[in-house]
Amino acid sequence: MATIFEKIIKRELPSHIHYEDEEVICIDDKYPQAPIHFLVITKKVIPSIHELESSDYYLLGKIFDVIKSMTVKLGIEDSYRVLTNHGSQAGQTVPHLHFHVLGGGKLGAKGIK
Ligand code: 5GP
Repeated sequence: MATIFEKIIKRELPSHIHYEDEEVICIDDKYPQAPIHFLVITKKVIPSIHELESSDYYLLGKIFDVIKSMTVKLGIEDSYRVLTNHGSQAGQTVPHLHFHVLGGGKLGAKGIK
């Protein structure tokens, strides 16, 4: 079954898209946990960081490039948090690799969830 993020990538669900290329898409989180909360999502369906293979490692560079440029674009480059969840106990709800980026204000110590 397609994940929510696959549906967003295929435009079957709406989202606010900040950036997109052949490998990743960057959207606002629908339920933000900080004044700025966006997601950088791989277009390749990888369930989580735990399933990343060495052939996918180039995606990590791409993801962190996009994170850096998006934080500058949104004016939070001085202070932000990046996190990714693996498994339901860690708070993962969508089994499709994505990185949360939170900023724009004082963040709690524990992150989101
Ligand atoms: P996870 O819980 O897997 O680490 O992160 C999934 C994130 O996707 C959550 O922060 C949740 O708010 C977000 N989310 C869930 N459904 C949607 C949706 O339909 N659109 C967008 N933009 N974000 C969503």
